[in-house]
Amino acid sequence: MNSMPVPLQQVTLHPDLEPIYEVVLRRNPAEPEFHDAVRGVLGSLGPVIERRPEYLDAKLVERICEPERQIIFRVPWTDDSGQVQVNRGYRVEFNGALGPFKGGLRFHPSVSSSIIKFLGFEQIFKNALTGLPLGGGKGGSDFDPKGRSEAEVMRFCQSFMSELHRHIGEYTDVPAGDSGVGEREIGFLFGQYRRITNRYESAVLTGKGLTWGGARVRKEATGYGCAYFAQEMLGAKGSSLSGRTVTVSGAGNVAIYAIEKVQQLGGTVIGCSDSMGYLHDPAGLDLALIKEIKEVGRGPLQEYAARRPGSRFVAGEPLWELPTEVALPCATQNELNHDDAAKLVENGVLIVAEGANLPCTPGAVEVLRQGGVAFGPGKAANAGGVATSALEMQQNASRDSWSFEYTEDRLVQIMRDIHQSCHEMAFECGVPGDYVTGANNAAFIRVADAMLAMGVT
Ligand code: NDP
Repeated sequence: MNSMPVPLQQVTLHPDLEPIYEVVLRRNPAEPEFHDAVRGVLGSLGPVIERRPEYLDAKLVERICEPERQIIFRVPWTDDSGQVQVNRGYRVEFNGALGPFKGGLRFHPSVSSSIIKFLGFEQIFKNALTGLPLGGGKGGSDFDPKGRSEAEVMRFCQSFMSELHRHIGEYTDVPAGDSGVGEREIGFLFGQYRRITNRYESAVLTGKGLTWGGARVRKEATGYGCAYFAQEMLGAKGSSLSGRTVTVSGAGNVAIYAIEKVQQLGGTVIGCSDSMGYLHDPAGLDLALIKEIKEVGRGPLQEYAARRPGSRFVAGEPLWELPTEVALPCATQNELNHDDAAKLVENGVLIVAEGANLPCTPGAVEVLRQGGVAFGPGKAANAGGVATSALEMQQNASRDSWSFEYTEDRLVQIMRDIHQSCHEMAFECGVPGDYVTGANNAAFIRVADAMLAMGVT
């Protein structure tokens, strides 16, 4: 169901930024996801460039578009039948002006240099919005954990870390999980790091298990944070999630906990999806059943319809054809295209908040904007995950462990602050309610000011 991204040709760049984008295109050929991510950010920076010409003089935009370091490596491992397999590993350390590079590892067959660079680029701004001391980075591999035994996943993770360990560290680069990398994989990666370095360096990875340095709420944080951000967006319109109809795409980590928090805040989630199609349950999703199927059994969502009367599974079609007031795309990049957005607008959607990274194509964002729909970009709406990773690092540094309630209170406050800074910056830029412009400018200024203070580095 993934659609190809619509090129962002319709977004006009400030004349001083167009040549910078041309260099990005030339220097990074055949990387469409990365190009879209860069153009998406540059397309919003007109206001800040007008007000702060010193950023151009110091070549800050050019420097932010160029990763500080890119590591590509071979990951050889042996499968259960004794065959040698070879995958490719990536770590892109994009920008360390605000803190150690920070961003997840993704294990998925679609992983490429372009995908990792687009995710790493977005991560710089997402991390800046949290207000916490975090640089931006991303990594992963084209390894597909689906259908692999636990022993195979372990051997793969050990081989991956055998190279990665020399590039990361508590004060250098702190990876975490992403799609295909959960607590199990972080455990195997951390075990190998500890064995090779002979250091129990808890804060070198986040997303750890609770008994060995992990943080409460980390597992829930991205989904919960997205629901809280949606609540703030509705609050800005004098409304709330209570009584609203909601659809959430995906049925993975982000989607499951977005559904949980929306339900706790009084919304009714009538649909979710996986890579095979979508589920419609007009009475409201039975989350315990979804967790049983997807978290415990790692099975197809289709099983739900067979077990829950009144629900149906629609194979191969996008979830977005269901009428809804709130849409939370929480599955993957480019899963909501121009046509899907038009359908949502036609059905009267009020807000769209991205739980995934760039799930809405540029064309979709434009349709939502023209339709007067409030749109929360992922770098703001899904920043709860990385923010809670930073809270995990804080607990590791102080050898402390906080309660669920205290950690969630911190998360709520961080999401409120992110919403407020996007909202205020949009107003300052003369486009009230435009969260994309608000998020990009607020984040860019934080990173650019830190770089300016540190000289040409
Ligand atoms: P998971 O791998 O846990 O879940 C992804 C889910 O999306 C799976 O249920 C998958 O289906 C489904 N899916 C994949 N492709 C499609 C599609 N085209 N249409 C509908 N459903 C689809 O990943 P996460 O939940 O961790 O991450 C989801 C997104 O959120 C990613 O973009 C990630 O980068 C982003 N994100 C994640 C964070 C985190 O803390 N986990 C933090 C910030 C962003 P199936 O089960 O069939 O594979």
